[in-house]
Amino acid sequence: MKFTDFNLSDTIQQAISDAGFKEPSPVQKEAIPLILEGSDIIAQAQTGTGKTAAFGLPMLSQMKADGSVEGLVIVPTRELAMQVSDELYRFGKLSGLRTATVYGGTPYGKQIERIKQASVVIATPGRLQDLLMSKKIKIDPKFVVLDEADEMLDMGFLDEIKNIFTFLPKERQTLMFSATMPKAIRKLAQEILNDPKTVAITKAESTNTDIRQLYYVVNDRERDDALVRLIDFKNPSKAIVFCRMKMEVDRLISHLTSQGFKVGGLHGDMEQKQREISIRGFKNGAVDIFVATDVAARGLDVNDVSHVFNYHIPFDSESYVHRIGRTGRAGKSGEAITLVSPNELRTIKRIEKDVGTQMATEVIPTKQELIKNKESDLLMEIAQTTITNDAIEMVKTLQHDLDIVTIAHLLASMVTQNNTVSGKDKIGFGLEEIKRLIERMHQNRGSDRNRSGNRRRHNNSGYRGDKNRSNRRKSNSGHRGKRD
Ligand code: ADP
Ligand code: MG
Repeated sequence: MKFTDFNLSDTIQQAISDAGFKEPSPVQKEAIPLILEGSDIIAQAQTGTGKTAAFGLPMLSQMKADGSVEGLVIVPTRELAMQVSDELYRFGKLSGLRTATVYGGTPYGKQIERIKQASVVIATPGRLQDLLMSKKIKIDPKFVVLDEADEMLDMGFLDEIKNIFTFLPKERQTLMFSATMPKAIRKLAQEILNDPKTVAITKAESTNTDIRQLYYVVNDRERDDALVRLIDFKNPSKAIVFCRMKMEVDRLISHLTSQGFKVGGLHGDMEQKQREISIRGFKNGAVDIFVATDVAARGLDVNDVSHVFNYHIPFDSESYVHRIGRTGRAGKSGEAITLVSPNELRTIKRIEKDVGTQMATEVIPTKQELIKNKESDLLMEIAQTTITNDAIEMVKTLQHDLDIVTIAHLLASMVTQNNTVSGKDKIGFGLEEIKRLIERMHQNRGSDRNRSGNRRRHNNSGYRGDKNRSNRRKSNSGHRGKRD
């Protein structure tokens, strides 16, 4: 199937080919015809599967560009608003369609001016509600999109969203997109959608299956060393390191910087300007390790992220899915690596079950292994280097005083000078130890169930050691609030 099989306008078809899109992704194949025939839809697909174009193309294709706001896209964060706006602008500009972004933390005036000239408004719930309630704007969109609906509910935007809909026309086409479909989402869908068609892209069909999922078992105090060793070993072209708390983000940024990596990051306390600079740095390659909390990284669309590192295992399976979806985007392959302490093994098992995948467990390479690894990379690199005239001249000069073997030794020493590996030799648990830990966990679970029923099911974020089990639920929700 090709994009030209869809009944999209000529200018939109032109924009698609300008963007270099060859083939529609699975969610696009299913959603685009339904949207073109006028149905409301509720679509579930993992991140990175092309949902923006799935709603954007058919929506833009039907717009008149008559100066009124014809489409409204509601998204969870400012970053996402900007991203979606860029993508929609790119597809709509040949059709004369302008976009306006609306989010908090910036002056009203300019936003309101831009809305007056826009065909599509991309907004976060808070600011949009403000503008509508204070009657600063009045819009009458034919298309309304909720993008990343699960994230918005997670962030506590349910009331805002419901309120926003009271200001929108009854005659409209509503499109809801979400990576996951918890009950709250289905309930909201019932309220705001009209006889919706469901689009569900299962993992097997999604373009996003090429993420290798691994976990390493380490003691808590080994996390920093493990992270550095693994970054060194995996040599990611671009990596995101996920943390639970902003304090951790700051600490890891300085730790990884001190280890010589090019590091940036994001958390909720940053100024908007700072956030934009930070994201741009990651996108354009000035930074190749990006440290962030879940909330800060929501919807972040950066191409070519080769690795996602979970410094801590996330609180729930949904966050896990969102995090690993930052890699393996647009059909590329990626690796998702999670560090877990022995106490967190059962969280891994639960996530495996929820997500329906098996993660592989591996052992962190020792210092010696890593050095060997780097050496063979270097040998390969040397073998593949082309000899330059300057080099030939330099060797001639050196040969006045030195024999050829000495020269070779000197040059090799120079090349290997930075081939050092820090930290202790062995980090984390070996395969046998991990196997035993898992066996013990299964045994414990058996006896635990007899004693305490299914208490564990509600308490299984694994954030705290078992000793604090009875306090766990309370303290988890406390951390949740401070997560960003
Ligand atoms: P999602 O919203 O599902 O997380 P996005 O809409 O952000 O995914 O798309 C992820 C990336 O894939 C974007 O960079 C987008 O430009 C690209 N993309 C989307 N559809 C296609 C396609 N059919 N062919 C090639 N690239 C695509
Ligand atoms: Mg998206």
